[in-house]
This record gives sequence, C-alpha cells and structure tokens, in this order.
Amino acid sequence: MRLVLLGPPGAGKGTQAALLSRERSIPHVATGDIFRSNVREGTELGQRAKEYMDRGDLVPDEVVIAMVMDRITEPDCGDGFILDGFPRTVAQAEALDKRLRKPSVPQDPLDAALNFEITEDELFRRLVTRAEQEHRSDDAEDVVRHRLEVYHANTKPLVDYYDRHGVLVVVDGMGTIEEVHERIQASLAERASAAG
Ligand code: AMP
Repeated sequence: MRLVLLGPPGAGKGTQAALLSRERSIPHVATGDIFRSNVREGTELGQRAKEYMDRGDLVPDEVVIAMVMDRITEPDCGDGFILDGFPRTVAQAEALDKRLRKPSVPQDPLDAALNFEITEDELFRRLVTRAEQEHRSDDAEDVVRHRLEVYHANTKPLVDYYDRHGVLVVVDGMGTIEEVHERIQASLAERASAAG
C-alpha cells in the first residue's frame, strides 16, 4: 500500500503514520525526521537543510526529491510506504507520480492521499504542547506561524491535485489518536472494497 499523508504541521500525520506503519508492516518515511537525523549527525545533507528548517522554510525541491526517490527504492519499500511530510509542493507530487507511474497501468500509483483536517485553534494547541515536549528548534511561535503560511501557500494546493487524481481521502483530524486512527481504517477499508 502506498500512502501519502497531507495536512498542516501539528495535524497528527506523524502519530497516525507510525500506527499505520506498524499495523500494515510498511515503512514510515518522514522527511522531517530524516532531515533532523541528518542535522544531528552533521552530514552534508543536514548542513544544507538546517538553515531552511530553522526558518520554517521548505528545503529546495531538488534536495528533497532526490532524497525521497532514493529512500523509496530501498528494498523495504517494495510492498509500499507511508510518506509523511512529502510531497509538500506540486513539483514534489509530480516527481513522485513520474517515478511511480507505469504507462501500462492506468490507475493512480498511490492508494490514497489522506488529508488531515483540523481547526487552527487545535493546531496551535498541539504545536505548543509539542514545543514543550520535544524542544524542536522550529516549534518557536514565530517559526510555527511561518510554517503554517508556507503550508497554505505551497502544500495546500496538493489537496486539489490529489482530488483531481481521485485518490484524496479527507480525514477529520479532531479528537483522540484512537478516534482518528479508526476513521482512517474505516476510510481505507471503504476504498479497498469500492475498488473491489
Ligand atoms: P516536518 O517534521 O515534516 O514538519 O518537517 C520539518 C522541516 O523539514 C520543514 O519545516 C522543512 O523545512 C523540512 N521538510 C520536511 N519535509 C519537506 C519537504 N517535503 N519539502 C521541503 N522541506 C521539507
């Protein structure tokens, strides 16, 4: 199963991706986590990404796309993957499609793009809690605000993009982790049975 998780920072993508990954035994590929571990290890990729991350800006497309294309060709992604935090721009979505699409197969190469919907109030509440718990350098209030602007400008258009491709699944992201997880399971089961 190939899934993409969409939604603003703090919408619960990472938490739900981890649950789905465990249940379905497919890797959870979180671009933010990959960048953070590269920053910690001081790799060249980490050094390139850090200035963008600290400002709450997107790392340039060519850097992210190359990294994700490498990751999803690793053997553990053979049965699928859950992409969390990628794509974040239309150019990234197009690069992913191009990589996955086989000309002989008409249907979309992704099984679903889950879009987490959540109110701004709840987002701020969660991001403040996360800032207290995780001490991420990009969870300071002004940077959070900027990340939300970047989300609206660059990433939100992907909702339409995946809707046009017929793979968009809207997930109500409000409520407990278990409630949201059950909604996702129900939506995916419904899609699978509709697809026969
Ligand atoms: P996240 O943990 O997904 O919120 O990502 C943290 C930061 O990593 C983002 O604010 C960006 O600076 C960078 N990043 C993660 N994924 C991407 C992506 N797909 N495109 C560009 N930048 C990204």
